[in-house]
Amino acid sequence: MGARTLVTTSKNSERMRGIRRQDTAPEMRLRSTLHASGLRYRLHRKQLPGTPDIAFVAQKVAVFVHGCFWHAHAGCAKATVPKSNTDFWVRKLEQNRSRDEAVRERLEGLGWRVLAIWQCELDRDIKEAANRIKVIIKQRSRHRCD
Ligand SMILES: [Zn+2]
Repeated sequence: MGARTLVTTSKNSERMRGIRRQDTAPEMRLRSTLHASGLRYRLHRKQLPGTPDIAFVAQKVAVFVHGCFWHAHAGCAKATVPKSNTDFWVRKLEQNRSRDEAVRERLEGLGWRVLAIWQCELDRDIKEAANRIKVIIKQRSRHRCD
């Protein structure tokens, strides 16, 4: 312990910088894909729990674009725990995950549908991720025509 714990590997500091990174290129491409499909949304609505990255206000659908590492994507190759300061990271990532869950519960309590889109999904296929959102928007729009 002591001074050693203060050492941050370059890989970790890269991750630290990524914590609050908003408007990443894949996220922007997701947004323009949605926009091109005629969907309209609000960004980073601070009035909502967790400040969703993308919010479809009329349909009450909140989308979070999650970095796989930072939000501890279960079973994902990108969600590895760093080998240095392991205890710190395990605790930190666990905190993040329970915060995500608390945010989801609060939004659901307000009648919102919550959707997490993972970074690895965007890396793989942005169109498919956009489709996942579109399907839910469609379902939620139908409700309003009853
Ligand atoms: Zn992932």
